[in-house]
Amino acid sequence: MSSKPHGLIPQTLKEQPAHFQDRNKILQKVYDQLKNCRLKANNARLVRMSIQLEATVAKGSKSAQGYRFNMSVLLRDIIKHKGDFRKIKVLGQPLLAPKKGTAPDASTYTTSKPEVLAKLVGILVDPALLKKHGYILTRELDPTLPDHTIYTHCARCNTKFRKDEILKDTVCMYHPQKKIYNRETKTHVYSCCGESTASTSFLRLGCEKAKHHVFKSESYNDLHEISEFLNTNVIDGEVNVLALDCEMAYTSKGFEMVRLTIVDFFTSKTLFDEIIDPFGEILDLNTQFSGIHEEDMKKAITYQDVMDRILTPSFINKNSILMGHGLENDLNVMRIIHDRIIDTAILYSTGRYKSSLKNLTFETLSEKIQTGEHDSSQDAIATMNVIKKKIGVSVHQTEW
Ligand SMILES: [Zn+2]
Ligand SMILES: [Zn+2]
Repeated sequence: MSSKPHGLIPQTLKEQPAHFQDRNKILQKVYDQLKNCRLKANNARLVRMSIQLEATVAKGSKSAQGYRFNMSVLLRDIIKHKGDFRKIKVLGQPLLAPKKGTAPDASTYTTSKPEVLAKLVGILVDPALLKKHGYILTRELDPTLPDHTIYTHCARCNTKFRKDEILKDTVCMYHPQKKIYNRETKTHVYSCCGESTASTSFLRLGCEKAKHHVFKSESYNDLHEISEFLNTNVIDGEVNVLALDCEMAYTSKGFEMVRLTIVDFFTSKTLFDEIIDPFGEILDLNTQFSGIHEEDMKKAITYQDVMDRILTPSFINKNSILMGHGLENDLNVMRIIHDRIIDTAILYSTGRYKSSLKNLTFETLSEKIQTGEHDSSQDAIATMNVIKKKIGVSVHQTEW
């Protein structure tokens, strides 16, 4: 058996016909056989092809026995036809339509960059729709809203309070998790502590207690008071495709960015991942959701450092395609105005409510994310892979 090449791991599937270890072993065999065929393909392509072939069979097999049988047929076919994809059958179906006079070519498995770019441009969200979903597209005050509101409601306990008194000690009792409906008892209960909304105990008010209330600003009028927005239309540069995700925390100045991850769509490489110092004093790191702990803040860089590094002609510029899930939240805390957007929460939600990234990732990729604290790196990659899957690009292709 040859050594295990980088990235040769079976695809995660919702229902696996065989144990992961068995699939892993068989996948290695597929790779070894393809390598023996001396195809005109580099190693990365061989890895991709092996993963794709194994996954196709795994998805089409109902039992461990069936899977092993189907894989043995496939392996036999690969050897018999020396890797000629016009002759190899997967689950009885030919892989490719036979063409006369063409040599087996692994490139049939990949998509070209211009082709993918065209597809991505095709799913850019219309600016009018972006606006409807809370994206800020112009530095214009909304005359229907007051400029800089004095009062706000606590994002945790809903108490009305003065924003300029946010650092004064008070008591904020709240439930960190949402309430869910219990069919058996026909009541709503908080998933954090199990307390019923009909409870007469004072615990109904909250199972967590904090010294301050917290708030989130959503309108331009409020957001620009803390820090002005920058429009990417002043930066001309190369067309690139970037997946973004921020982690946020509650501070004395609202809901602020404390971590930013940017991943390149074509190479799947993480181009930026930093912890960021917010403008206000931190009141709640929101660790359960942000994954940020107090000690992480020691390595924080400033907002200005972030902007200096990411707003450049070769990074985020007016031609960039930015993708994310509910990206308006990220762009608003980043204070960036940009209109070439692919938003999975807008594009792939069904029904009245936006799908969570967790559900969308599971439905599309059969992968579980956000099982514990959130991680902006994991979320950015998941969003990107959902889009790849939806437009028919292999999540394993990193060379173009
Ligand atoms: Zn609770
Ligand atoms: Zn509160």
